[in-house]
This record gives sequence, C-alpha cells and structure tokens, in this order.
Amino acid sequence: MKFFKNKYILIPLFVSIISIFLMVISNVYYKDNNYVNYYKFQNDMISKKVSKVYLTNSPNITVKLKNGTSYITDNPRNAAFKEVLLNSGIEVSEQAPISAVDIIPTTALVLSVLTLIAIVLKSSKLTSKKIFAVDALDTDEVKNVDVNFESVAGNEEAKENVKDVIDFLKNPEKYYSYGARMPKGIILYGEPGTGKTLLAKAVAGEANVPFYAMSGSDFVQIYVGVGASRIRQLFKKARLHGRAVIFIDEIDAIGKKRDGGKSGGSEERDQTLNALLTEMSGFNEKQGIVVIAATNRLDILDSALLRPGRFDRHIEVSLPDISARKKILRLHMKNKPVNNINLDDLAKKTAYFSGAKLENLVNEAAILACKENSDYIENIHFEKAFSIVIAGHEKISRDYISDTDRKITAYHEVGHSIVSLKLLPQEKISKVTIIPSTKGAGGYTLSIPEDKMYQNKDYIIKRIMVLLGGRAAEEIIFGNNNITTGAYNDLKQSTNMITNMITKYGMGTSLGLLNIDELYEINYSVSNSVIEECKTTVENLYDKTKKLLLENKDLLENFTNALLENETMYENDIQKLL
Ligand code: ADP
Ligand code: ZN
Repeated sequence: MKFFKNKYILIPLFVSIISIFLMVISNVYYKDNNYVNYYKFQNDMISKKVSKVYLTNSPNITVKLKNGTSYITDNPRNAAFKEVLLNSGIEVSEQAPISAVDIIPTTALVLSVLTLIAIVLKSSKLTSKKIFAVDALDTDEVKNVDVNFESVAGNEEAKENVKDVIDFLKNPEKYYSYGARMPKGIILYGEPGTGKTLLAKAVAGEANVPFYAMSGSDFVQIYVGVGASRIRQLFKKARLHGRAVIFIDEIDAIGKKRDGGKSGGSEERDQTLNALLTEMSGFNEKQGIVVIAATNRLDILDSALLRPGRFDRHIEVSLPDISARKKILRLHMKNKPVNNINLDDLAKKTAYFSGAKLENLVNEAAILACKENSDYIENIHFEKAFSIVIAGHEKISRDYISDTDRKITAYHEVGHSIVSLKLLPQEKISKVTIIPSTKGAGGYTLSIPEDKMYQNKDYIIKRIMVLLGGRAAEEIIFGNNNITTGAYNDLKQSTNMITNMITKYGMGTSLGLLNIDELYEINYSVSNSVIEECKTTVENLYDKTKKLLLENKDLLENFTNALLENETMYENDIQKLL
C-alpha cells in the first residue's frame, strides 16, 4: 500500500470518519429528542399551528410549526394524507428538510472522499510512470558533501595519491593554463569495505564539488540501450553543474574483460561501456569533472578502460594495518560515550578487519552497552561485540587468518627482505607487509631500482636469490614438511629468470652462447641437459640463500617479530631495526 506513505492522505480520511460519525449522532439524537406522537400532531393540525409538513416515503415525517419549531412524527402512509394537509392550508414539501446539522458533515464527507480519490489516482500514476520510464535515473546526488579527509582514517597512501586531483577540482582553469592534463578517471581497487566509496566522497568534500554516485550494476539492465542512456544522463546532469565527482561503484559490472564469445547480455554491456568511454573523452580538461570508479579487482577489467585518457590512475585501497585500525577505531568512537577502552589491544585483535568491519564492531559494542543501560561503552562490550562480528564473518571468508598463517607470511616476507638487504643494499625496500592485498597474501615492495640499460649476470642471480628468500625462510623456521604454496609466484618468476639466463642470454654452459628460440627455428631439439642445468643452478642459489639467512638468523627473528607486531613496516622502520 504505497499511497499510505503520503501522509496527507490522513487528513481527508480523518475528516470523512468524523463526518460520518457526526451524521449518525445527529440523526439519532434528533430522532430521540424530537419525536412527538401522531395524536399530538393531529391536535396541532386542528388548532392550526402547523405551517409545513415534509412528506417523504420514510417511516417518519417532519412537521414545522408556525412558531418556528419542528418535530418528527409517524408517517400515516395514507394516500389521502397530502390532500388532507393541503385542504387544511398546510404547505407540503415532498423532500426531506435540509438543516445545517446535516449539511456540514455531508459536504465534508463528499469533499474528503473526492480528495481521497484524487490522491490515490495521483500516486498510482507516479508509480506507473516509474515502471514505464526505463530511462529514469536515480542518481545518488549529493550537493554539499559532508565527508572530508578527516572522515577517512588510515589509507594514507591512497589519500596522498588523490591530493592533486582535489587541487585540480578546486581550480581546473589553473591546470589548464599550464597545459597540464589531469586524469579524467581514477580507479580505486581493494577489498570490500576498505573505504573506497568513502574516499571518493572525501575527494568531492575536500574539493567542495557535488558528488554523483551510481553502481555499475544499475547500468546493466534487461533492456538493451538503457545502460548507455543512463550513462549519458548521468554525465549530462553532472556537466550542468560544472565541476563534479562522478562515482561509479562496481565498475566491473560494465567494464569486465570481454570473454570473446558473444554471450547473452554482453552486447548491452559493450554499449554501456562505450557510452562511458565516449562521455569521458567528451568533456575537456577545463571542465573539472573527475570520474572515480571502484572495484574489488583490477585484473578483471577490460584494458580499454585502463588506457591513457581514460581510467589511467590506479590506486590501491588496502586493508588497514594495526596503526590504521587504531585510527579507524578511534574515529568511530569519537562521538560515543566510551570509557577506558584498550585501543592497542583491540587494534591487535582485529587483524585483517576492513574499515567497514571495524565500524560495525564499534556499532555492535554501542548496541550492547545501550541494551544494558550501561553509562559507558566499555572493554567488556567490545569483547562481546568482537565475538559477534567474528562469528558473523568467520564462515564466509578468510577474515580471521590464524596466527600460524600470519607467522608464516611474516617469515616469508622477511626472508625476501633480508636477502635483498644483504645482497642488493643499494635497492631500498619501501614497504614490507603481512596485510593481504588483491595481489595475494603479504608482500614487499622494492623502491624502483635505478634505470639500467642492461642487467648483468650478477644482478640477475641476486634477484633470483631474493625471490627464493621467501621459501628459504619458511623452510628454515618450519622445516621441509611445512613449506607452503605461498612461494608460487616467486618460483614462477625465478624459473622465468633462470631459463632466460641459460637459454637466451648466453650465461649458461649447456647451450653456451646459443639462443634457444633460434634453435627451435631450425627444428633442433634441445636435450634435457638444459633443464638439468637450470635445476642445479637454482638449487645452488637456493642453498646459498638458505645459508645467508641462517647467518642472519637473529635478524630474521627480530625483523619477523617486529613485522608481526606492526603488520606493515616502511623504509625508516627497517632502517631503525638494522
Ligand atoms: P568500499 O566502498 O570500499 O566497499 P565503503 O567506503 O563503503 O567501502 O566503507 C563502508 C564504511 O566503512 C564507511 O562508511 C565507513 O564507516 C567505514 N570505513 C571504511 N574504511 C574506513 C576508513 N579508512 N576510515 C573510516 N571509516 C572507514
Ligand atoms: Zn614471496
């Protein structure tokens, strides 16, 4: 019953109920208090007091006297009755008398019923319009965004990466006058709940421009062409405003890699995607419109979307590490009556929680405290809330990675880092983390090494050893039976490097200076000795790597403990440790 949502419907409804009530009351009251028996009427008639009689078919007739009063009496239902009256000089009306007591509620009733009908008609017209106008666009439009950078805790790198865009949105003409090209599109990628929407909104808030949001799935409709026209409308709306942030959540719904075969619905998706790309190339730099899209996975997006001039800036929004979790928790506790909370402990316990989940945790704790009528939200509420949140999520995902897994990841990443620190000291490690990213569990990042035209044999060998360092550390600490699949990508890369060395760069012995590709050209089959050589080379390098790590076992332990505690370590943290 949608039209009940319209609160004005209550007014005519109320009025009609009241008037019906009044009519009933007045009728009963009037009859009870004005009834006079027929005998008395006859007396009045004889004594010529009666001036008028309202003669209808009802069981009663109304009699009006010459002195102005009136009463009701029985209807004799005699065919000659009217003649008798007329002969006695009494006026006869064949209609019921109309009195103010009757007129007012009757009119009110009629009016309110008419209003009711009008409202119902109007609301049903509205809903039917919604169904038929497939083009109707429900953009989430926010003119004055109340979210800014302060509402986003942690995510420092991502924030840093959008700062210039904010500046551009504030002042697009300035950038234009310098001939600088700003990215028209930005993709934020990362696990659900890490604050991608929040960050996009904060960009609009910081730049003080309106925020238009839609989800990719809103564009994928059953009717072909609807998605494309929705895109055009969205941009039209934003352009009317001049500067704006357009946010498209779940961009993968329209921007997934084409699967080659023309499967159902893909034509519609292509049209939508093309409309998006056309619109994006349509607005010029001066305009100050930035499209921000979000996805959980960057690798499934169509490359057409990622080309320069389109979504050419990709920013990872990762799960928060321990210090970011502390900030997020603190932020969401800010306006709540918390007392004596052990934030450090809570941040430690919530490893792998996303921002959204942390927000959820604080909220659950607040609900528990409220249910108990407790004066404050205290540690005990957070403990209970923690169990609730964990229980709710445990089944679905790897959210709650066990301590052993954290340890394995930590030793593995530190293994890479130590080999790199020892063998390639000129290459700075900018970040080591055990927080999983979309690329896999944990990870370490080398700052970009100097650009060199050639890579020498020594360097390639050292890089291979760095790659082997993860597995080597696992084996040293947990034993040969407990090595994990975590080295999958490392081994892929090292295999690629070693085979290239031996078969393409002339750095091995079994092929010498021969190149394998050219040998295949002339159908020369290469013996197994090449693979043998690759294998023994890697084995030697692996042994050397293990030896290196064993020589630095104390560092391995200390480094790992520090990483387990901090979850993410940056260049200066690592320097301090050394
Ligand atoms: P996503 O778009 O990545 O799925 P959202 O931006 O919708 O995630 O985040 C959902 C909610 O989680 C936010 O509204 C906010 O309350 C909370 N949240 C997530 N990340 C953060 C953060 N870094 N700082 C503060 N709150 C956060
Ligand atoms: Zn690794």
